[in-house]
Amino acid sequence: MGRNTLEGKLGSGTALLSVACILLLTMVGCRSSYQASSNVAGAEEVLVEIDLPPYQPASPRFFDILHTRLDLEFNWEKKWVIGQADIALKPHFYPQNQLMLDAKSFEIIGCDLVQNSATAPLEFQYDGESVYINLEKDYKRSDTLSIRLKYIAKPYEQAAQTGQAVTSDRGVFFVNPTGADTLKPRQLWTQGETQFNSRWFPTIDAPNERFTQEIFLTVDSSLTTLSNGVLQSSDYLGNGLKKDHWKLDKPHAPYLAMIAVGNFAKVDDWADSLQLSYYVEPAFEKYAKDIFGNTPEMIAYFSQVLGYPYPWARYDQIVVRDYVSGAMENTTASVFMEDLQVSRRELLDDHWDGIIAHELFHQWFGDLVTCESWANLALNEGFANYSEYMWNEHKYGKEEADYNLWIEKDNYLAEVADGKVDPIINYFYENPDDLFDSHRYSKAGLVLHMLRNYTGDEAFYASLNHYLKANAYQSVEIDDLRKSFEAVTGEDLQWFFEQWFELPGHPVLEVSTSYANDSLTININQLQVSDSIGLFVFPLDIKIWEGATSTTHELLVDAPEITVTLPLPQEPTLVEVDPERVLLAEIYQPKTSQELLMAFSNGSSFALRREALETLFSEGDSITIGKAAMLGLADVSPRLREMTLDNLVGRGHLTNPDMARAVQKLTTDSRSLVRAAAFSAYSETQSSDIDEVMMKALADSSYSVIGAGLEVLLQDYVEDPIWLREFLGLTHLNIAAPIAGYYNQQVKEGHLNWYNKNLLSFRGMDRWMFLQYYIEYVVLTDLFKDESTAKVLTYIATNDNEYYNRIAAFQSMTLVIPETPENRKILASIAAKEEDQRAKAVMNSLLAAEGN
Ligand SMILES: [Zn+2]
Repeated sequence: MGRNTLEGKLGSGTALLSVACILLLTMVGCRSSYQASSNVAGAEEVLVEIDLPPYQPASPRFFDILHTRLDLEFNWEKKWVIGQADIALKPHFYPQNQLMLDAKSFEIIGCDLVQNSATAPLEFQYDGESVYINLEKDYKRSDTLSIRLKYIAKPYEQAAQTGQAVTSDRGVFFVNPTGADTLKPRQLWTQGETQFNSRWFPTIDAPNERFTQEIFLTVDSSLTTLSNGVLQSSDYLGNGLKKDHWKLDKPHAPYLAMIAVGNFAKVDDWADSLQLSYYVEPAFEKYAKDIFGNTPEMIAYFSQVLGYPYPWARYDQIVVRDYVSGAMENTTASVFMEDLQVSRRELLDDHWDGIIAHELFHQWFGDLVTCESWANLALNEGFANYSEYMWNEHKYGKEEADYNLWIEKDNYLAEVADGKVDPIINYFYENPDDLFDSHRYSKAGLVLHMLRNYTGDEAFYASLNHYLKANAYQSVEIDDLRKSFEAVTGEDLQWFFEQWFELPGHPVLEVSTSYANDSLTININQLQVSDSIGLFVFPLDIKIWEGATSTTHELLVDAPEITVTLPLPQEPTLVEVDPERVLLAEIYQPKTSQELLMAFSNGSSFALRREALETLFSEGDSITIGKAAMLGLADVSPRLREMTLDNLVGRGHLTNPDMARAVQKLTTDSRSLVRAAAFSAYSETQSSDIDEVMMKALADSSYSVIGAGLEVLLQDYVEDPIWLREFLGLTHLNIAAPIAGYYNQQVKEGHLNWYNKNLLSFRGMDRWMFLQYYIEYVVLTDLFKDESTAKVLTYIATNDNEYYNRIAAFQSMTLVIPETPENRKILASIAAKEEDQRAKAVMNSLLAAEGN
């Protein structure tokens, strides 16, 4: 699965604006949906008292499902799935006389044993979660039996069970089912991970189960369907309906089953002889290949480097509305959130290759080879996460890949700082959904990166090939991966796997160096060692520069503190431990400004240059910062050029004429985000030609660049400039935010329609941010009395897919809508209909406060 909700969406490089968030709106409860489950940072006494979450073993296997055949139709008004499931199965090993199937919030209509097309009813009990079927005799493992269950699945009629992603566990989701919402298409799609597919078909809902599958979908003949595998036939039934038959002929785990129904444009593509399709809303048909067009090259690259061809018959990718996560790697049919539906113009600023590579790589790591239990989730997610590095390195170069590696490390360290420190392979948890976090994604990816550097590329990929071949269409645990690496390398790797995958934490190193008597002494101290975090053993590169030449030494760190002395005829100019920043560690090594500046002239890694830049900007004096900035602005990495520009804003250095010239040069950089940052920075140079230069930003194609220009230029205007009109029709937050800032600043009346239109077209965080401008505007211009304001806010408070937007719109209403009994009734009815418990609680407390 793509990383959860908000974080997944924000993490993908959306160019956020430097928007001053106005008004009282607070992001109530708006944070990523995974939180520390049990650990409390730095509070040892507390830790002792907290009970460990329960041990979660792999699901016991009594039966093995061989094949699942589903015949489904839908009651859209009631949000029901009406189904017949034919399940062929056999006892796993021991004889069985009772079968338990997961079937959450079903109405069971009948249960039969099917023998040679004759059916015989079977007795069953149902408790709302599982159906217990009495088989009336013992079946042996050599027996195969076929069970038919007729049912109605009612995913919306039982309160959501999971504590966190409150309404995301329905399994099947109906978007705008009655068509009442004119701004949304009518769609239906499923989300099985972790154990939610048993909300729409009966199964043994565990990742260590595996079956082949056929799904028949009866839908309106105008709609398009998608499921796993290959479409076998599409039969028109004559009454405005058709029946599509999808078949997956290789076995996969239940959570990977999917269906989607809606009005989609299907754009075909090929990766050699493998057929691909991209399913998007019709309006985005013309951009589908711009968004997903690197898929064939990714498939070729991953197949080649793994020495294992893409394992399934075809590959489909579909974008759906109101998705509950970032994306999901259903076998042959990945689902993506609607944020991927962007125009060619928006793709100038950023692309979605990371998430596309991630879901694709899961087709090997997750779908072909599946974690046997959620404790081993990192065997799915760590690899998918690391594939983003691999793809970036292959397509965009090592520097870009290392930039993303730094982001991943930051994600992991932020989670640690939040108090979550547990082993990557973790059998102790309350809810499997708690595991979809930066330990299982980022940290596991970083550990695989270390493993690759330790074994070397050839052994790393040979080991992955060994692992895929040895475990194809089977469940795996971490030992299976270790055994493949040991088989290939011939080395016992228990030490590596245990400390990195099975134990918590990471090394925190204090490094110091000194030079005397023709010798360099290096001291390395492991600071992390405590009751809960152990000692780490790892090889460590040390790079020593003497002027322009460098030598690299490798040493083994295997004690809490080690000191090494190297004979050296003259004092080194710089000593770096782990110069490529491969080791997942925090490294504290005091360096002089001179040494930090040397990072830019030594051909140092991206990581060292980035760290040097950050340290110099935060700790350097004015002269040093000036030098660092000139080096950063000329850096080969666009990421560092952009970072330097961002760091310069608001520091007063930009008035220096040399600096101003360097910044102006970057306004024509080949990367749009660098240009945007350069335009913003140039406004602080006090050059006489600022307006003239900014007009060039307005002529750019990139929304980020135009937005940067608008932000600067509009500060000078009281009357609308003539050129403003051409930007009013561009619905993009980068454009709308500076214009709204200007309208609000100048209290420009008469633009409520423009605000309404933008607010309604934005989604997610963009909508949340624009809502701040919106509320300020209606208050300043006295337009809260306009009935369209109440309508638009009511629409968002009721229909927005993100609970934080529903809360924000509701809170806005309590602030700006006149307090009349009628409006109070509207508010009360919105709160009453709210299904998300977090949002409902906030709405009710706001209502109570209103009443006082
Ligand atoms: Zn994933």
